[in-house]
Amino acid sequence: MTPDFDVIVVGAGHAGAEAALAAAGSGLTVLVLTLNLETVGQMSCNPAIGGVAKGQLVREIDALGGWMGLWADQTGIQFRLLNAARGPAARSPRAQCDRKAYRTLVRRTLETAGRITLRPEMVTGIMVSNGAAVGVKTRSGRTWLSRSVVVTAGTFLAAVLHQGESVRPGGRMDEETAEELSRSLAGLGLEKKRFKTGTPPRISGRSINLAAVTLQPGDRDPKPFSYRTENFHPRQLPCYLTRTNAETNRVVRENLHRAPLYTGQIRGTGPRYCPSLEVKVRQFPEKTRHPVFLEPEGYDTDEVYVNGFATSLPVDVQEKALRTVAGLEEVRVLRHGYAVEYDYFPPWQLKPTLETRRVANLYLAGQVNGTSGYEEAAGQGLLAGINLTLKLKNRPPLVFSRSQAYLGVLISDLTTMDLQEPYRLFTSRAEYRLLLRADNADFRLMETGWQLGLIDERTRHRMLQQREAVTAELKRLRKTCLPGLKEAVSLEQYLRRPEKAYRDLEEIGQGRRLEERVRETVEIETKYAGYLEQDRVLAERMAAEMKMRIPEKFDYGALTGLSSEGREKLEKFRPETLEAARRLDGLRASDLALIFLRLR
Ligand SMILES: Cc1cc2nc3c(=O)[nH]c(=O)nc-3n(C[C@H](O)[C@H](O)[C@H](O)COP(=O)(O)OP(=O)(O)OC[C@H]3O[C@@H](n4cnc5c(N)ncnc54)[C@H](O)[C@@H]3O)c2cc1C
Repeated sequence: MTPDFDVIVVGAGHAGAEAALAAAGSGLTVLVLTLNLETVGQMSCNPAIGGVAKGQLVREIDALGGWMGLWADQTGIQFRLLNAARGPAARSPRAQCDRKAYRTLVRRTLETAGRITLRPEMVTGIMVSNGAAVGVKTRSGRTWLSRSVVVTAGTFLAAVLHQGESVRPGGRMDEETAEELSRSLAGLGLEKKRFKTGTPPRISGRSINLAAVTLQPGDRDPKPFSYRTENFHPRQLPCYLTRTNAETNRVVRENLHRAPLYTGQIRGTGPRYCPSLEVKVRQFPEKTRHPVFLEPEGYDTDEVYVNGFATSLPVDVQEKALRTVAGLEEVRVLRHGYAVEYDYFPPWQLKPTLETRRVANLYLAGQVNGTSGYEEAAGQGLLAGINLTLKLKNRPPLVFSRSQAYLGVLISDLTTMDLQEPYRLFTSRAEYRLLLRADNADFRLMETGWQLGLIDERTRHRMLQQREAVTAELKRLRKTCLPGLKEAVSLEQYLRRPEKAYRDLEEIGQGRRLEERVRETVEIETKYAGYLEQDRVLAERMAAEMKMRIPEKFDYGALTGLSSEGREKLEKFRPETLEAARRLDGLRASDLALIFLRLR
């Protein structure tokens, strides 16, 4: 049977779009099947890209030739660098986007990229021959053949929506649920589990009393996500801040008996780090002032997203609770909040390339792997697209280490952890966060993007010039002394003083005219040189030890002294390396030491 396409991507959300563009960008033919063309690139929840750790991830996706950063730059309505005053590892770009413009742009990109065919069809099954995926079946009765398949079905697998007492099938409000695809994947021997997530109400901006809320403007000098964005002058819209109060808590508390989360109606586990309003009230009753951010959904709409107010309480309770909040006394609700419960496939069943261990050429990416968030989905989609391309071209896979990229942290966490709740990235998940900054993402990864054919020569050339400029300037600062002093003080030592910045060097006539991004990296690399060096040495040493491979048939039963939980996990996950073993939840340091000694 001749394949119709090299790759079939199931779903055109954040993971699907990146996977399709990465494969097509490397010369493969791609069929994207998705439920509805109007919701290609839809942001299901908050219309915002980036944020803590996620912003760094978007910069990495961009450096490798992914699209999310470009789309956010072109459709952003407010840009902020979070934690700007904190250390460089914490600085994270974030953009509020125009929801409609974003999805329109994603769809247009897919339609005009070349080599991509986009069709609205519900996939109902994966076709497998000799242990490898060879195509899909759709509800219309068609079959499509391909050399590999990527499933990026998000929150749609056997999905159920909850809003108060109302329960109905759907992966998002007013959309379908994908029952058969979930069954088909489970039928291939993949274990599935259930998670839950929720979204807040959307309200009419004109019904907010602006006098009672606090203005949250965007940055005065906004910066784009993408290295490839030029002429960046976004027209920014303000957001607003208000807070819940004791009265909000009272309304929620009195209606907890109608909350699907507490009546037993919802059984899937939700994200602890992003609790719904009812969870906040029940678990932290002493807290009565939760922040609520009012974020516009776009330029041409009155709709405002109520960030911090995720809830699946009945609609009448949602309205009553909203009206207790300062500025929202007269609020008109346009869409109510709800929760979605869905199947996911625990990602320990995947190789670090996101190919399933059970079925060759079948890849899973995005929320189907138990993650949450557009950025985590996009990162996985990109890596799945890249890796399946490399496999089809008989080239070695692309797997980043934890000290190279947040993408490495993400994939190594996913493929070795037993998730207890939807997974999202935090800076605290990275051991070497000072190495994995937003400002140096291009310097770290763009060369790889270029080798993959996803970054053009001109862009790469500019990056190389800037990287050389950083190196040259660091050398000059080290070698040049401040003039007119009795004691020799290098410019590097001067810049390392906590109160000094590069512009101080310029003021005393010792600075160079550098591009802003070169200057930023020079400043960080100088000020944090000691810590950076320490991290680099540690990362190298660890990497050398942790690369040690564990044979597939390693006999954990014969290893005396292993903890019983550790043995159980090791036998279940069969980690390929010491590094993978180290990431296993529940594995003790002593367990790792025993394996290390036996391997030695
Ligand atoms: C109600 C709700 C609340 C959320 N809240 C948060 C939150 O608070 N924080 C957060 O970080 N994330 C939240 N999310 C999750 C966020 O939307 C996802 O993480 C992100 O969209 C995942 O991207 P994805 O590409 O994996 O899947 P999605 O964006 O869900 O895209 C899936 C795509 O697959 C298509 N599809 C599904 N099944 C089939 C099929 N059988 N055949 C063909 N096409 C199919 C769909 O049409 C869709 O295009 C929420 C999602 C929902 C629905």
